[in-house]
Amino acid sequence: MFRVLAQVDLQPYNTLAVPAKAAWFAEIHSRDELLAALRWRRERCLPLLVLGGGSNVVLAADFPGLVLKISLLGLSVVAEDAHSVWLKAGAGENWHKLVLQCLRRRNWGLENLSLIPGSVGAAPVQNIGAYGVELRDVFWELEAVDIDSSATLTLDRQSCEFGYRDSVFKRSLKDRCIITAVTLKLDKQPRLNLSYPGLREALEETGCPASPQLISELVCRMRSAKLPAPEEVPNVGSFFKNPLVDLSTHSRLLEQYPDLVAYPVPPSRVKLAAGWLIEQAGWRGAGDGVAVHEHQALVLVNPGRCGGERVLELAAAICRSVRSKFSVELELEPRVYP
Ligand code: FAD
Ligand code: NAP
Repeated sequence: MFRVLAQVDLQPYNTLAVPAKAAWFAEIHSRDELLAALRWRRERCLPLLVLGGGSNVVLAADFPGLVLKISLLGLSVVAEDAHSVWLKAGAGENWHKLVLQCLRRRNWGLENLSLIPGSVGAAPVQNIGAYGVELRDVFWELEAVDIDSSATLTLDRQSCEFGYRDSVFKRSLKDRCIITAVTLKLDKQPRLNLSYPGLREALEETGCPASPQLISELVCRMRSAKLPAPEEVPNVGSFFKNPLVDLSTHSRLLEQYPDLVAYPVPPSRVKLAAGWLIEQAGWRGAGDGVAVHEHQALVLVNPGRCGGERVLELAAAICRSVRSKFSVELELEPRVYP
């Protein structure tokens, strides 16, 4: 049954542990509940916030409308051939649990994306990526519900317009639909992606033959060593995207900073490591209740469980100092609400 609650504390629902209240809140377990909630909101003309695991949002203040926590579960094989399995997962499934289940089922392709927090339904929103693999590499299609009309939509890979930490859900379909299920095309034979040098090196150190299970274990180990677990130290992962600059900006920076960390993005752009820029601007470990993470300057942590406005103040100060030192604009990765 769809049940709407008033004045709900959202601190347990966002991994930055920001205290903020939802004027209205409902957890959605079925398609019928979702349709009822959308009707309820439409009748009252309330703003809507869709939440999965809350690991990529900053709540800057109380939310004056309806917050829907998507808990649509389910996992099924929808097709299979000699080489591939098409696996459909409910939007509320936990991403890392799905990765582990696929490893157990010997359905390969997700191993580099191990231990990313959050839900399956949010994965297409920013085309989650890590260690050289992105969601789009295994994505087949998704189902969604149009927020205004309640119509069912099916989007294939092309319609999702995936880019670097980007998709159509951050642009023309922003706030227009709720993803209810995602179908992935996974391999029956391992096709390992060892393009990420850090992962290759970690594998070589083990002296063991590469396998999807080992890749997943190494990714988990590397992530745990460097990134704060949100349950222990509240955070939303990378707070800034790695900026993409043109070749002339890259040459200018390289002249001034010969040890600049950058990666070519053919044909004409270069990705700068935002963490390096922030570290060079002197921010690593800086701050108190809200701080820059000691081991990765790209991550802001909120051990003081401060309000979202404090987190955004620190982020703005970092952006100003990177702009003044390097003339490079940083862009926030998490979405800020309201
Ligand atoms: P939420 O934070 O709940 O939502 C994020 C956005 O998606 C919001 O705008 C929300 O409205 C929208 N949304 C959520 N669910 C739906 C839905 N069903 N339909 C429509 N819109 C929806 N990200 C990476 O890409 N790679 C990483 O390696 C990575 N590592 C991380 C490590 C840590 C420690 C943390 C805390 C975060 C990391 N992230 C990473 C960021 C985050 O985990 C991902 O972006 C994840 O996909 C967010 O999932 P979520 O369910 O928590 O989304
Ligand atoms: P890292 O290895 O210290 O590298 C720092 C940055 O350099 C990363 O952002 C990565 O970009 C880039 N990079 C490194 N080697 C690269 C290569 N050979 N080619 C292109 N780009 C390269 O990064 P980390 O902090 O430990 O994270 C490891 C992986 O997990 C990365 O893929 C990162 O994106 C992912 N991660 C993401 C989040 C998030 O919230 N989005 C949080 C934690 C970790 P990419 O980011 O493009 O890979």
